[in-house]
Amino acid sequence: MRLGESAGKTDAGRVRRRNEDSLVVEPPLFVVADGMGGAQAGEVASRLAAAAFREYHAADDLGPEERVQAIIQEANRRIYERARSDAGASGMGTTVTAALVTGGEVVVGHVGDSRAYRIRDGRLEQLTEDHSLVADLVRSGRLSPEEAGEHPQRSVITRALGTDPEVDVDTLVLRPDPGDLFLLCSDGLPTMVGDEEIVRTIERAKTLEDAARDLVRAANSGGGEDNITVVLFRVDGEEAVEETLVGPAGASAAEVEQEDDLEDTLTDLPPVAPAPAPEAEREAPARAGKPRRRWGRRLLWAALGLAFVALVIGGAIYGLSRAHFVGAAEDGSVTVYQGVPFDLTGDVGLYRERYVSRLQAAQLSPEERAELFDHRLTSYDSARARVAVYEAEALPEP
Ligand code: MN
Repeated sequence: MRLGESAGKTDAGRVRRRNEDSLVVEPPLFVVADGMGGAQAGEVASRLAAAAFREYHAADDLGPEERVQAIIQEANRRIYERARSDAGASGMGTTVTAALVTGGEVVVGHVGDSRAYRIRDGRLEQLTEDHSLVADLVRSGRLSPEEAGEHPQRSVITRALGTDPEVDVDTLVLRPDPGDLFLLCSDGLPTMVGDEEIVRTIERAKTLEDAARDLVRAANSGGGEDNITVVLFRVDGEEAVEETLVGPAGASAAEVEQEDDLEDTLTDLPPVAPAPAPEAEREAPARAGKPRRRWGRRLLWAALGLAFVALVIGGAIYGLSRAHFVGAAEDGSVTVYQGVPFDLTGDVGLYRERYVSRLQAAQLSPEERAELFDHRLTSYDSARARVAVYEAEALPEP
């Protein structure tokens, strides 16, 4: 197996002013990191992660999987220390999805909701499992994959570098086939571009450099709501063919094992545009000669109908104004929202922030998150009380 062409591109997108993503394209090492945190902290965090990988030679004595683990732990420590010592950087964190190609294998290390995909035979396979609120909800059956793609909190991650002194890292080791293409990306790509379009865009491009540029373009045409980062690399044939000739049984057995580990979690659908509202039906003008009584009855029905509609709308508004739920804001802060946890369209939600906690979603255990973010509608006071319990446990005394 030989590492072939590779390319990477990052872009702020069309909505965010800053680009908090970072990338490394230094074959045989590839990294995408998506930073979070106020002010410029997100940029700092993702750059610290990228820098730790650029110095990866320091961990040369380890095997590839242990090396990837060690580098990610090292990056985590650096970000955590910085977040603790620098008040402006407190609460910062970053995702990381890294691939190291060595010894006929692709080793992937992963924390957060940036993704690694493999493209083989025109099919996009997601290799990594998102560490995100909506992925948790989908896994526990509370949300369908379709709902997850539209969920207002789809960008909230549940595991990040920098929030704790140690971090759980997912790793996987793949034995690629000749011609396999790998894609690492931040969530700004899959939230804006569907799977099929990702594959088509790559297949149309002459070079991976062009493909990376076109993917960023597609994400921007899709709205560009977040920073977009893509890294692509291809594994070439020659030696891999020889390997297969020498030991086909061993190679295919390893492959089957990997396939079992891969969960098909391709969940993102392109946003559905709201159907145009039907034109208001007009009352046909009364014809001359029609009995007056009939016209009067129509008016009565219309009045009753209007009163009913007003009642329903009024009731809904009253209900919404009283409903609260607990969620997490874009930056991961645990938040009490007023309203219901749905978006009308991409930008208009049926909820608003009432209380933003210093507590980060990533500071909670998966069980605690499932309990707190269960979308139960409740009063403001009881929502606050539920959050207060976790704040008391997780936050240091002020
Ligand atoms: Mn992002």
